Amino acid sequence: MKPLLNEIVKLSEDCFRITETGSIHCYLLIGKTGALLIDTGYGYEDIRPFLRELTDRPITVVLTHGDSDHALGAGRFDEVWIHPLDYGKMKQNDTPERKRPMVEHRLKKMPELSSILDIASYIETPVLTDQTAIRFLQDGQIFDLGDRTVECIHTPGHSYGHMMFLEQPSGRLFAGDQLAQNHYIWHHLSADEQASFGVTLAALNKLKARADSIHQILPAHGASPADQPLIEDLYDALKYDLPKTWKNDSYIHTAMGDGYAHQYRSAWFYYNDARLEEYLGEPVHREKNSGSDKVKH
Ligand SMILES: [Zn+2]
Ligand SMILES: [Zn+2]
Repeated sequence: MKPLLNEIVKLSEDCFRITETGSIHCYLLIGKTGALLIDTGYGYEDIRPFLRELTDRPITVVLTHGDSDHALGAGRFDEVWIHPLDYGKMKQNDTPERKRPMVEHRLKKMPELSSILDIASYIETPVLTDQTAIRFLQDGQIFDLGDRTVECIHTPGHSYGHMMFLEQPSGRLFAGDQLAQNHYIWHHLSADEQASFGVTLAALNKLKARADSIHQILPAHGASPADQPLIEDLYDALKYDLPKTWKNDSYIHTAMGDGYAHQYRSAWFYYNDARLEEYLGEPVHREKNSGSDKVKH
């Protein structure tokens, strides 16, 4: 049996990339005594039988953060680990108000989803129930898989409870939504959901200090593994480029809110003016005839 909505790619003997609906990469690491699943996708399809074909070891499930594309599949598992600061976000995403526009967006790109998934039931019924035990991740926590360890690194920014996972001795960093290569990272949601750029920079500094132990970056979206210096590119984009060039950015509209799109080397992201003003410490005035005036909704 082959998955209908997931594509499974063997990256190495002990590491598989599982991509749901062509958009979100989850990863399965297989150690000597245990396996680790990083992120669960939207949960449109039950991936457990496919995971079982890849390993018979006990699988621990961890989430990089609470966004729908990473966390709603958690409802398929008995126990899931997430940072406490993103637990509320995960629950909020499991509501009809949030799920309806998300599924409609996916259906436009993938009409065949309607023949595979009971859409109404997915939207109306909570995916996360008491059947799934929630455990809370901590910064510095280690999962021991026998012949390797995986360290949890709290990297807030894209969300307050965002976590990355660093496998040793391989040096593979599973970066969630905090890093991506030529793929827009979201920073345009409200301060209720996403931290300031100052917080993101602090998380990037933490990673820069660990650069010697990071040998490869595997993001949750776009090219994976990445072949560009994603940590440096995003750091330089926020620290040096954005404050100088934000006026050139064009206006964007998404189902979850509007903002501006910034590109610097491999670091692409959306942001809004409230976040920019907080970061610059001064009001932001866009020129007339800038991108914001050209886009009509
Ligand atoms: Zn996200
Ligand atoms: Zn994502």
